[in-house]
Amino acid sequence: MSAHADVPDGVARPGRIDRVLISATALEERVHGLAHEIARTYAVTSDGLIIVTVLSGSLVFLADLIRKLPLMLRIGLVTVSSYPGGTTRSAGAKLLTSSYPELQNRDVLLVDDILDTGGTLRLVQREIRAAVPRSLRTAVLLRKTGKAPPDVTVDFVGFDIEDVFVVGYGLDYDGLYRNLPHIAEWRPGNP
Ligand code: 5GP
Ligand code: MG
Repeated sequence: MSAHADVPDGVARPGRIDRVLISATALEERVHGLAHEIARTYAVTSDGLIIVTVLSGSLVFLADLIRKLPLMLRIGLVTVSSYPGGTTRSAGAKLLTSSYPELQNRDVLLVDDILDTGGTLRLVQREIRAAVPRSLRTAVLLRKTGKAPPDVTVDFVGFDIEDVFVVGYGLDYDGLYRNLPHIAEWRPGNP
């Protein structure tokens, strides 16, 4: 019998998921709140918002967020590699693919799962700014407090968390655990 009763059998390897940091209910409530903040900000955008999201960690957050946004919007996608394979250390962000509508003179909201060292968002923000949008704001579900340098700004933040490696609700370790409904700490040292 696993000590981690919150992890459904067969969904994750028990023993590595250490503790639940943010429950599914708390996530739902906060994403609802973020959607309100975002909808208020873009209420007067007449030609539609363009949401550019960073795959794959933002998938679940994006899916929940956009269904709560009563706005005209289009989706663009970028893929950035920063945690290749089974590692919990950032290896420097690299833009792998990008596919989005014309951004020039449009309102763009960049959506990412988590702000850690800021390397990923700095890279993608630079890429989007080069396309000369009317406005660029950034939303992240999670922010590890005090780690990102001041030049990487975010406008909407779901939760500030401590500096631990987290999985679930889209976030992975080595491609796994994205389907957990909550955010949990993942510890390499556990059996
Ligand atoms: P940064 O470039 O800010 O250091 O890291 C941002 C990216 O690294 C995130 O988009 C996410 O993909 C990944 N990342 C950072 N911290 C974590 C974490 O605690 N868990 C997981 N699964 N990914 C993380
Ligand atoms: Mg990411």
